[in-house]
Amino acid sequence: MPEPITLKNWIGGRWSESSSGATLERHNPADTRELVARVPASNAADAEAALAAAAAAYPGWKATPAPRRAEILFRAAQLLVERKEAYAATMTREMGKVLEETRGDVQEAVDMLYFMAGEGRRLYGQTTPSELANKVCMTTRAPLGVAALITPWNFPMAIPSWKLAPCLLCGNTAVLKPAEDTPLSAMNFVQTLTDAGLPPGVVNVVFGRGAEAGAPLVTDARSRIVSFTGSTAVGREVGQKAAAGFKHCNLEMGGKNAIIVLDDADLELAVDGCLWGAFGTSGQRCTATSRIILQRGIHDRFLAALEKRARGLKLGNGLAAGVQVGPVVNAKQMQRILDYIAVGQGEGARLVLGGERVTSGDCAHGYFVAPTIFAGVKPKMRIAQEEIFGPVVSLLSCEGLEDAIAIANDVPYGLSSSLYTANVNAAFRALRDLDTGIVYVNAPTIGAEVHLPFGGVRNTGNGHRESGLATLEVYSEWKTMYVDFSGRLQRAQIDTGE
Ligand code: NAD
Repeated sequence: MPEPITLKNWIGGRWSESSSGATLERHNPADTRELVARVPASNAADAEAALAAAAAAYPGWKATPAPRRAEILFRAAQLLVERKEAYAATMTREMGKVLEETRGDVQEAVDMLYFMAGEGRRLYGQTTPSELANKVCMTTRAPLGVAALITPWNFPMAIPSWKLAPCLLCGNTAVLKPAEDTPLSAMNFVQTLTDAGLPPGVVNVVFGRGAEAGAPLVTDARSRIVSFTGSTAVGREVGQKAAAGFKHCNLEMGGKNAIIVLDDADLELAVDGCLWGAFGTSGQRCTATSRIILQRGIHDRFLAALEKRARGLKLGNGLAAGVQVGPVVNAKQMQRILDYIAVGQGEGARLVLGGERVTSGDCAHGYFVAPTIFAGVKPKMRIAQEEIFGPVVSLLSCEGLEDAIAIANDVPYGLSSSLYTANVNAAFRALRDLDTGIVYVNAPTIGAEVHLPFGGVRNTGNGHRESGLATLEVYSEWKTMYVDFSGRLQRAQIDTGE
């Protein structure tokens, strides 16, 4: 077994012990006998030291031209390509996703860095005519200062990159508080930025628990931006605290995503998509497919085909060849998933497949939950309403498109949705009427690309978007500039400009 890695906090370009003296240990969820990492259990004093370092680095970074800042992001992308294989393997050991998917996670960070690097020579504002003569009007994006970035474990490099790349490009400095379960991937990303030439203090990392190391970043007056991805319960608390300080705050939270399959759909394609959407990343994606809404004519054939395919999925350590489904992230999450399975059975849903922890063979020492399918699920059952975040999918039935869209929309979340059909009219109706931030046609609910906005409505988000150019709104503020070269007082709305 590889040696565990011990990290300290990364503050002002130096490794820094936590003043708490306490540490957190991270074990491999596929084999809990393997200790993967030891990190500080940081406290408010550590968070404050990191904020101070970020504040000190801000004037210099803000004064660095955006194209120069972007060049560092570009170099980091190149370095990350070279390190992809090693970082992906570390990520699999740290949080369990299969190697193919952790490679994708690193690749997403590469894509985001390249995308934002390109923006360094754009970051466009507007020039527009003045209503007065001999006067020009223009806008530019200004940075805000220090950003507090709080991230979850399921995309442990991609999500930090979604936040850090635009944050840095716009001229802000940052403190990153990664999830307790995935310190190494976050630090590998920051190490890459550092190796690419990022000056000390521009990005700082504090490890530890949310309430102890994350919460102080949100409330401290030095953070002007708070960007949070995680559960809706924590996001609500973070949002309320950030609002008290009038901070820019984007919240990316839970999902309860549905795929609708109409009778005219390509059955095989729909089964492929649902299998990947429901059981990829062991169902631990905010965009995971947790409901499948089937038109009656296709229902039984679809169920039989999905069950057959899901039964054949190979569980195990994500580093082993041929493994398709890794463990879930930790014991608490596993118990939560098993509790939801019991809830579904109690509610009268029909357990078609799975439903239990797997402890045989390669799964003997990890947190494995069998791919689980419930049929006969009713829209108001808890398993059809609440985010489970595990390899559990609920099948519901519908009469037709209208009915299906009503069921799909009738949940507290609004992140991603999908429709499988061969009917172009149905496709465009669904694109219009599905009330989610992301809608797919003939593709599963997962598969976002970095140059498009990512986020959701209702309990999934607070109106902002990550990725795409939309994310720049989180990390910059518009400055409007007027230059009057008439040499006399001209009054807007009063003088005519003659
Ligand atoms: P979580 O809410 O438990 O933790 C997320 C982060 O917040 C962690 O770094 C944690 O330490 C920190 N945190 C916890 N309490 C805090 C507090 N009081 N103050 C400040 N920070 C605190 O979520 P998780 O279990 O790590 O991730 C799973 C959740 O994330 C799911 O609900 C999933 O849907 C969601 N998610 C959403 C998106 C999206 O873009 N919408 C993407 C990935 C994951």
